[in-house]
Parts: sequence; C-alpha cells; structure tokens
Amino acid sequence: MRQNLIHRKQTRKIKLGNIYIGGDAPISIQSMTTTDTKNVSATVQQIKELEEVGCDIVRIAVPNMKAAKVVHQIKENIKIPLIADIHFDYRLALESINQGVDGLRLNPGNIQRRDKVAAIVEEARKKDLPIRIGVNGGSVDREKYPILSPESLVDSALEHIKILEELNYYNIKVSLKATDVPMTIASYQLMSQKRDYPLHLGVTEAGTKFTGSIKSSIGIGALLALGIGDTFRVSLTAPPTEEIKVGKEILKSLHIIDEGIECISCPTCGRCEIDVIGITEKVESEIAKLNKKVKVAVMGCIVNGPGESKDADIGISGGKGIGVLFKNGVEVKRIPEKDLVEVLVTEVRNFPDK
Ligand code: SF4
Repeated sequence: MRQNLIHRKQTRKIKLGNIYIGGDAPISIQSMTTTDTKNVSATVQQIKELEEVGCDIVRIAVPNMKAAKVVHQIKENIKIPLIADIHFDYRLALESINQGVDGLRLNPGNIQRRDKVAAIVEEARKKDLPIRIGVNGGSVDREKYPILSPESLVDSALEHIKILEELNYYNIKVSLKATDVPMTIASYQLMSQKRDYPLHLGVTEAGTKFTGSIKSSIGIGALLALGIGDTFRVSLTAPPTEEIKVGKEILKSLHIIDEGIECISCPTCGRCEIDVIGITEKVESEIAKLNKKVKVAVMGCIVNGPGESKDADIGISGGKGIGVLFKNGVEVKRIPEKDLVEVLVTEVRNFPDK
C-alpha cells in the first residue's frame, strides 16, 4: 500500500459538461486542437484521437463566426467536454454558448464594454457554464505592470476575476501561465492563497516535445506535488496527442493516477552485460499498446538488478549474454539475450490483471 504524500488544496468544485473540476474531482488533462475549427471533420477526427489517448477536456479556437457556427456539429460527434477559446469578440462567446459548448475560455477585461460581458455571463449562467480566466505572461498589460512577476500575473488575473465576481459569477477557473518555470510555480502558489477557484496549470509556449515536456513536467509536476492544480495542459509544439501522453506520465510519476504500465530501467554503466537501451525501447513500444496495470523492470547487471527486478511485477536482470527473469519478486528462469524482448512482452501480455 503506497503512502499518500500529496495533500491537495481544496478548491471550489465546478462542473464542465459531464465531468467535475476542483474539490475532490480527479485531476483532468486537457489539450487544444490544432486544426482549423471550421473544418469539422478534421477537428472531430483530432478530438477522437485525443479521446483515444485519455484526454479529459478539449479546447478549440473560435476566432470567427464561421468557427462559432460549427461548434454544435463538433460537440455532437465527440464524448469529452468542449471549451471555446474566445478573444475580444463577445458575439463569438454568445454563439458558442448557443451552439452548446460546455465552457468558455475568455478574459472579460479584453471585452471592451461591461454590458457585453454581462450578456455573456447571463447566457453562461443559464447553462451553468464555467469560464476560464487565462492570463499569460505575454498578455499582461505592460504599461500597468512594467515588470512581469508572480504578483503582476496574479493581479492581472484578479482584475478579470473581479469583473465576473461583480456580476455574481463564480463559476470560474483560473490559469496563470508563463514561459518561465519558477515564475509559473510562484504565480500559482500566490493565486492559490488568494482565491479558491480551481486552477488550470500550464507552462506556456513550453517548446518542442523534448524541452516542452521537461519544462512542463517540472512546472506542472512541482505544483501538483504541492497539492496545487485541478486540471492542466502540457503545451507542446507537437501533435496534441503527445500533450496527453506527457500529461499522463506526469500524473503517473506523482502516483496521482495508478494505471497503465510503468516501465523502469537502469541508466546502464560499465557493469552492464546486456543491451538495456535497445531492449527497453523495444519492450516499451510493444507494451505501450496494452491496457494493463503492471510494473516492468529492465536492469543491466546482477549488482542492482535483482533488487529492482524483484520490486517489479516482471523484471529482467542482465548477466553474460542472458537475462534472469523475475516474476513477483521470484527468480523464474534464465533467458538468452536474443529472446529477452519477446519473452518480456509475452510475460507482460499474460500478466493477470490486478
Ligand atoms: S543495474 Fe547494473 S548495469 Fe545497470 S546501472 Fe546499475 S550497476 Fe550499472
């Protein structure tokens, strides 16, 4: 039995379509489509791919009325909650609500007239739709806040929040994304002291799959480890499905979700007696498709190998041209190196479901 070392900060629970965010609701993973929203079939196809890899919430850009008018067609072909991303034009928000969207992402301060914000809130209230206020480092008013800091990001978000609060609207979630990881962490920490709205975490413009995954894992991971954050997006310059895969690994690493295959492998060193890198890569790509809960270890030698292998459900510990197979901590048999991948994959496939 694993000890729970993360104590999640309690936030207000809100409903988005058929899921909850905040409070005791599971931490959800989001992504955003990269297709032209007007292209319904391409957008739906991308959302289905996201659903397949475990995306909980999807956001689409709604930059014009043509895009707003197809929201219903997209919505009726997908299963997960749909959020419309709106900038400046209140009519796009109204049309998206009319079309059946589940939530909005918009900053009320960017909509020039208060009566227009009130019109959006009135319609959102009728359908109990959450509005995400999303402040990015790049969108902070630099005349007002010449220095970008956690305080300026939080104050900027609070200005938008107050507009909704003055309209007695509290069905809100908040994001405060910066490209700078320490600034992102400090900003969310500060905001979590000021309000109890659910927080949508993210490091903005994090970069390519490699650098973006690292920056996001540190920024989002640090906050989640502190118990801050109710939903998040890993922003990558990569296909959206990659964002979900990275997001799931972040949750698995923190034991926030306990599902799927955990593959551990040693970094190898001068004692290594089998091709750990090659074997692990092949095994990982083969077993990634299996829907199982199992921990697999690939270790290079008999120094640390048996200990780690025994700790896993299925483990291999390398020897001269062979691998020793462990199952549930017990040595089972010795296998020639050339057969290791096949044997390991078969063992994982046949491992009983927990
Ligand atoms: S398990 Fe063996 S080969 Fe792998 S890093 Fe440890 S000592 Fe080196």
